[in-house]
Amino acid sequence: AAADLERASDLLTRAERITVLTGAGVSTDSGIPDFRGPQGVWTRNPEAERLSTYQDYRDDPEVRRESWRQRAAHPVWSARPGPAHDALVALERSGRLVALLTQNIDELHQAAGSSPQRVLELHGTMHHTECLSCAARAPMAEALERVAAGEVDPPCPHCGGILKSATISFGQALDVEVLRRARDAALGCDVLLAVGTSLGVHPAAGLVDVAAAARADVVIVNAEPTPYDDIASVVLRGGIGEVLPRILGGASG
Ligand code: NAD
Repeated sequence: AAADLERASDLLTRAERITVLTGAGVSTDSGIPDFRGPQGVWTRNPEAERLSTYQDYRDDPEVRRESWRQRAAHPVWSARPGPAHDALVALERSGRLVALLTQNIDELHQAAGSSPQRVLELHGTMHHTECLSCAARAPMAEALERVAAGEVDPPCPHCGGILKSATISFGQALDVEVLRRARDAALGCDVLLAVGTSLGVHPAAGLVDVAAAARADVVIVNAEPTPYDDIASVVLRGGIGEVLPRILGGASG
């Protein structure tokens, strides 16, 4: 594995244009559980996955009440960025980061200091709400205050519609402009670094194929196997918090 670490580190040190794709695994060290890892939310409770669709949320008031209970108690509100987030800030400062594509909805990349213009949130953010009827956006804190004051399913203050976090649930399409910019970043890199993602959700996972087809080297850092390990130049299985600072270490100076 020492040889693999060295090979990843070499590829990243030599690359002039690096695009990074992150998933829930970069935030587990910050106390936010992933979905499909050994301690994942869906691994522990498969029922939760079945209740994560847009249609269930829209049509079932009980699903919304449960969602608001879980949002109010979510570890994201007190989470702090960790060493993996910091290593990616250092990479950006080296001037070679094309874009940071994230499936995460926790805004910890921005909290660590990654520039908001370079972070593409493929699956949206938990830090805002969006109305399913009039599409009005507002800070999540406003809705959570109403939940704390006793509302179990706070409606949109403008039109009375259903409020949801501004995240992409199963059954919802990604933002076309965000996806277009993400594809461009995957096409325009020498190395695509995929970190902490099981690469099981499309179209996000397909960005690895886009980069590989454009002849980028793919480096994967993830504790468990992914469907893209075969096309990767290097696969590293260690803990992200230790591995990422090591392979990006040469990139920060
Ligand atoms: P996932 O749960 O499917 O996969 C995470 C992967 O990271 C797993 O394979 C796991 O083995 C690995 N991993 C976890 N911690 C690790 C560590 N410390 N070191 C090495 N590997 C580690 O996550 P995904 O691929 O991002 O897909 C889940 C979906 O759920 C995403 O679309 C995302 O929007 C959402 N989600 C987001 C968050 C967040 O914002 N932090 C958390 C959970 C889920």
